[in-house]
Amino acid sequence: MSESKFEFDEQIIKKLNDNCAKVDEHNYFKFLNANVDGENSSISYFLKGLIRNLSFEPNHKDKKINLTKDEQIKLVIEFYKGLDAKTGELVEQILTGKHADYKTQIGIDETLEHTKGNVGSGEDSAQIEVEVILNGTLDGPITIAHEAAHAISAHHVQLNKLETVKEKRKAAKFLNRYSVDCIGEVESYIIELLFVDFLLEKGVMQKDDYENFMAQRNNNLVNEIFQILQENDVVSHLACPITIEAFKEFEQKIKASKNYTAIMNRCRIMAECKDEHPSFAEYKFRYVVGEVVSTLWFENFKNCNASEQKRMLKTFLDYVTTKTDHVGIEEMMHILLGSNVKETCEQYYDLKKNNTVTV
Ligand SMILES: [Zn+2]
Repeated sequence: MSESKFEFDEQIIKKLNDNCAKVDEHNYFKFLNANVDGENSSISYFLKGLIRNLSFEPNHKDKKINLTKDEQIKLVIEFYKGLDAKTGELVEQILTGKHADYKTQIGIDETLEHTKGNVGSGEDSAQIEVEVILNGTLDGPITIAHEAAHAISAHHVQLNKLETVKEKRKAAKFLNRYSVDCIGEVESYIIELLFVDFLLEKGVMQKDDYENFMAQRNNNLVNEIFQILQENDVVSHLACPITIEAFKEFEQKIKASKNYTAIMNRCRIMAECKDEHPSFAEYKFRYVVGEVVSTLWFENFKNCNASEQKRMLKTFLDYVTTKTDHVGIEEMMHILLGSNVKETCEQYYDLKKNNTVTV
């Protein structure tokens, strides 16, 4: 038997308990469970529907580009101006360091494997800080476009108005801290997809680059959804404190399941993690929500006519600049994906289920 592969002795189970207790304290597992297993959660249908349909594709490295930093910034400004003149002007001011409310730093480090980007606020500064480090690949301008979307979004601006970090945290808790994180990634991922389309149109990206970008995005998403579902499986069955008896019972219960190996592996990863936050989902779920919603939004966008596209873009830009500071995940999905989002989710789930090939 393969049992010897997974020796969960007393010590490992104790470590798993200690690590899970840290995350449980922040109420994160409740949030995860409500959104992944919750009957009223549209996002859970999409997660399960998508995972049935998406497949792994070979990975490609990001392609090097021959564009200076200023040329990359210029491309992003041109893209935003094409979406909407006012938004474009705001982005131009932010990215060129001419907006008093923002402190923008864009650097280059060609030794970096991945471009870095962040929008936040300093403890003593009233300015919103936008930081990007490019690495000379196509990922660079895409990251500038992604961070610019955060910079103009209502919730970043609103959170930044609060004077101290402590007050910000309190306010974020009030808005539901984790929900705020998820909402924040939706705008930036929708912008990424629109921007990549723009790069293809401009000839900055070739068809190959475009397909590689989509394949990598697809891989990340499948991978992340898998890990999140596994983590949710673990925490939905093992309430803290995780006793040895409860763990052994859980292990017996899932022994026949085809996900047994993966779930036991996930338990081990969570037990052995030395980070302050040993939960994968606590950090990654926000990106998955952003990628899932943007994938579906973009699918709709590509399938409609020019006037409908115009309407979708207007709704999206209005949403980003005015609504993101107070909506929850469900409401965000209603605004961006339509009021019948629940039915769409169910259809999507069924459609993907019917597409599953059984061997
Ligand atoms: Zn982001």
